[in-house]
Amino acid sequence: MVDQSNLPQTDAEWKARLSDEEYRLLREDGTEPRGSSELLKVDDDGVFRCAGCGQVLFTSDEKYGSGTGWPSFYDPADSDAVETRQDHSHGMVRTEVVCSTCEGHLGHVFDDGPEPTGKRYCINGGALEFDES
Ligand SMILES: [Zn+2]
Repeated sequence: MVDQSNLPQTDAEWKARLSDEEYRLLREDGTEPRGSSELLKVDDDGVFRCAGCGQVLFTSDEKYGSGTGWPSFYDPADSDAVETRQDHSHGMVRTEVVCSTCEGHLGHVFDDGPEPTGKRYCINGGALEFDES
């Protein structure tokens, strides 16, 4: 588990820790431009960590090419790794996905993914860090 005692407590501390883009995505519920993530091309074995706190969120085993322009996974690395919330922003009802440790915004989950889960976790690559194994 990630040591939560080291997590930033204030917006200023988060700004100091994260890049401008990471801060916009994780702390301000941002969305990166479609097709912009370098992680779309990553096909190696490894784990995807939260850029905010380092928790392992997804693995290459659950990554798949959804064709949407955002890194997509059909399941988290661990069911405790992410939490979901109802999101009513932008005139839509969607299910937001956040990191369970730092509550950073990751993306959204939809019900049009592949088997075995039928889920599509549509995640901002800029909210993730890839660790090749
Ligand atoms: Zn996190």
